[in-house]
Amino acid sequence: MFDKILIANRGEIALRVIRAAREMGIATVAVHSTADSDAMHVRMADEAICIGPPPSSQSYLSFPAIIAACEISGAQAIHPGYGFLSENANFVQIVEDHGLTFIGPRAEHIRIMGDKITAKDTMKALGVPCVPGSDGGVPTVEDARRVALEIGYPVIIKATAGGGGRGMKVAQDATEIDRAFQTARSEAKAAFGNDEVYMEKYLTTPRHIEVQVFGDGKGKAVHLGERDCSLQRRHQKVLEEAPGPIITAEERARIGKTCADAVAQIGYAGAGTIEFLYENGEFYFIEMNTRLQVEHPVTEAIFGVDLVREQIRVASGLPLSFEQDDLKINGHAIEVRINAEKVPAFTPCPGKITQYHAPGGLGVRMDSAIYDGYSIPPYYDSLIAKLIVHGRDRTEALARLHRALGELIIDGVDTTIPLFDALLADPQIQSGDYNIHWLESWLESYN
Ligand code: ADP
Repeated sequence: MFDKILIANRGEIALRVIRAAREMGIATVAVHSTADSDAMHVRMADEAICIGPPPSSQSYLSFPAIIAACEISGAQAIHPGYGFLSENANFVQIVEDHGLTFIGPRAEHIRIMGDKITAKDTMKALGVPCVPGSDGGVPTVEDARRVALEIGYPVIIKATAGGGGRGMKVAQDATEIDRAFQTARSEAKAAFGNDEVYMEKYLTTPRHIEVQVFGDGKGKAVHLGERDCSLQRRHQKVLEEAPGPIITAEERARIGKTCADAVAQIGYAGAGTIEFLYENGEFYFIEMNTRLQVEHPVTEAIFGVDLVREQIRVASGLPLSFEQDDLKINGHAIEVRINAEKVPAFTPCPGKITQYHAPGGLGVRMDSAIYDGYSIPPYYDSLIAKLIVHGRDRTEALARLHRALGELIIDGVDTTIPLFDALLADPQIQSGDYNIHWLESWLESYN
């Protein structure tokens, strides 16, 4: 086992990793930009090293700064968290070239899944059901028109290098295809430096269901059920729950096994998430994320496992600490993402937190790096806290979420807390009757 690991991240996820490491008796090294000198992860880690100025490109994304921080501190492994360098295959390669361990999958698997066309081809070959669409890339607008006629409107044009909901455009009919194609391509070029796009049938009422998998890197893998992340705004998740309110035990066992078998076959190591759209009882693969997800705590709550601990164990060469049969679901968990944003426009709202009080009590977990008097810098993601509740069933989890939100105080900046108060009062949220488009239309009448 490692003696010391470096966490190449900030905010709540850096704390999350520090907590797991500390329970395992592993020393931690935080890295930070000059904008984050007062950040909680810097205070909580055993050591902290400043790696550059505020822009992430010169600090949290700087390969040389992070490798140098490992060498100076003697850290043997790097946990990337999510975002930043977590899905950067070139970084993984360089980490390994320096004799260090990357806590995550092999570069090869990150590379395959990071290109959505290759990812779909790979998954299809492994027996995972995919959304009907173009076979590979769509180079010209003539190709786009032809593929759209083959698969039938509406269609969605997506960037193969895509992420974060960017570079995606829907064409409802033939009059919209030229424009959708050109816009998706130019957005993809601007955001990812790669304008290759592919096409899928645009599903009109699906839920977003994702399966958590875990591989030992030696051909063995398990699944930890699914999360329903259908409540989205601009293709970004807002609230997540596990298990999925409408997924049956048979469906879970079937799709879970398909996913675990697929990653076992490629010798995948560590945590991964296989994302699907789910409509009329069918699962359609859209992408695989080769990292720990923001929403991993809802899975931890219902299975009673520590996924970060497991990541560190597997990276150090230990076997999985659970078999598929050990993994039993207990109750229901819900997470809400609390962002420093002003609703309804969701404009980022950095600034000083004048008062903070975290909720507590049975079944309440608050993952956050904020504190009284903390100033949220304007340079990074607006996620400032994740409130996760666990109950014996969905009804209890919803009541607990309502209760915990009532206890939570974050003053000084605008947050998305009022949005969740309003959402919880909605009968369709109470009954779990929503799909990926529901929140956007609900928001039209909110405020
Ligand atoms: P990203 O990597 O940018 O997050 P994804 O492929 O994971 O992109 O898709 C993000 C979201 O976009 C999905 O959760 C869903 O809401 C929507 N989406 C993607 N593909 C389709 C599709 N074929 N039909 C309908 N909605 C889609």
